[in-house]
Amino acid sequence: MSHVDLKGAGLNLEFEPISRPALHFIDGQFVESAEGGWFDTLNPTTNDVLTQVAEGTASDVDRAVEAAYRAFHDGPWGKMSAKERARYLVRIADAIERHGEELARLEVADTGLPISQARGQAARAAENFRFFAEMATRMTGETFPVGDQFLNYAIRVPVGVAGLITPWNTPLMLATWKIAPCLAAGNTAVLKPAEWSPLTATKLAEIVQEVDLPPGVFNVVHGFGEVAGDALVKHPKVPLISFTGETTTGRTIMKNGSDALKRFSMELGGKSPVVVFDDADLDRALDAVVFGVYSLNGERCTAGSRLLIQDSIREEFEARLAERVRRIRLGHPLDPATEVGPLIHPEHKRRVEHYLDLGRREGATMAVGGEVPRELARGNFVRPTLFVNVRNDMCIAQEEIFGPVLVSIPFTTEEEAIQLANGVQYGLAAYIWTRDLERAHRVARRIESGMAWINSQNVRDLRTPFGGMKQSGVGREGGHYSFEFYTEWKTVHVALGQHPIPRFGVSGMETRS
Ligand code: NAD
Repeated sequence: MSHVDLKGAGLNLEFEPISRPALHFIDGQFVESAEGGWFDTLNPTTNDVLTQVAEGTASDVDRAVEAAYRAFHDGPWGKMSAKERARYLVRIADAIERHGEELARLEVADTGLPISQARGQAARAAENFRFFAEMATRMTGETFPVGDQFLNYAIRVPVGVAGLITPWNTPLMLATWKIAPCLAAGNTAVLKPAEWSPLTATKLAEIVQEVDLPPGVFNVVHGFGEVAGDALVKHPKVPLISFTGETTTGRTIMKNGSDALKRFSMELGGKSPVVVFDDADLDRALDAVVFGVYSLNGERCTAGSRLLIQDSIREEFEARLAERVRRIRLGHPLDPATEVGPLIHPEHKRRVEHYLDLGRREGATMAVGGEVPRELARGNFVRPTLFVNVRNDMCIAQEEIFGPVLVSIPFTTEEEAIQLANGVQYGLAAYIWTRDLERAHRVARRIESGMAWINSQNVRDLRTPFGGMKQSGVGREGGHYSFEFYTEWKTVHVALGQHPIPRFGVSGMETRS
């Protein structure tokens, strides 16, 4: 029986009512949709309506892009020094910290993320702004001297209006991961948040207004992907699209933007392996395996959702794992003791449950899982689940479930572990547990993933390139890699002396004069 708690002995587990609708933020003003549409955003803990959200269409996207275009070409933003822009970013970071608790509680209400984890995400959102503020002031160019003939140099210039399209998992943190480098580099932005998690983007717009960011520099248009997102992708005045979301959506977006030859950054899905060898520190590996897939309600792109376990330790490790998974505290996300909360939406819950059925039908054994207790029935709760006796060709081992579900697959040799790790379409992250350092580096290099962690959980270093291989993405963000995406290289050639210039069209001129 896993720990379940919706009462929270003596704790205040009431969500604050949200008295205002979530509006678009265009040209420094909060506005309704031009066509007047609204949709509801739900609280995943109860499935009650939290508030109404303005439903953006192509005309709202157009208004926002025009505002961002004016702010880029005519406003002060592009003309400011990096240092001046960085000052604004630091003010945004300070304001996020001031409103940190409110942002965290909004995120819990809108997404079901447990409060202890939502607080961490709010802190990271502030850190994103602080980090890229500093990075921007360190942005340099390159020089290419050619003796005393030429001085050639290359500088980075902003691209223009960026379309930022974000998913519903950790929406505040992921949005700021894009907004901060985008603005730091001198671009202006239109953010289209996911329709299931609009509230923290709206609060962020309030923060931007509070710190007096020039109008039009940052805009938010709410709405559905196929309408508002699509209009942003196809807009002729938006040269770059940074997208985080599902692989299938990423493909559609790249097709839709290809006629205009847009620049894309694609951070897509994953099915990341955690490889545990028999010589590993098994206590630490166990902690990391459990946290790596069940944190953030399992709705985590870099989740270690496939455990590859060496068969010599399989029985014992799986038994200890099952015991821990059974004890995970599923419960009310405002309770600080809760470890796993509800999934974002009833539709997503159905999708995850479909995989639970499928896993059984494919012949895997559900070692931990099952019905959620009655007191959680209103919300989108799914019991943390562990499948054992899984083969790598099963759908539950191949497809991204994006919920609190771990599959365990045995291997015998290092070579087999690598083959299994690589035997999926995705290549986002990998986690390797072994005390054999040579093997650790060898395996990290051979697993096809954009990132690998050795004897570590997913600890981010914001300076390093973040992104995936194969169907997990295109391009990298993070550190100066973000500026590769959010800037253009402009090369300037300067003649310092009298270099020869071939003279065309001079024949006969001397004899005539
Ligand atoms: P999703 O693809 O359904 O939606 C993401 C965003 O795209 C939303 O804002 C949505 O409205 C918009 N969208 C949908 N269709 C569109 C279209 N045709 N044109 C333009 N925009 C459109 O993804 P999701 O379900 O919100 O998020 C979960 C997915 O995101 C998972 O696959 C997860 O792995 C992935 N993800 C990846 C990373 C990463 O860094 N690699 C990080 C977080 C999440």
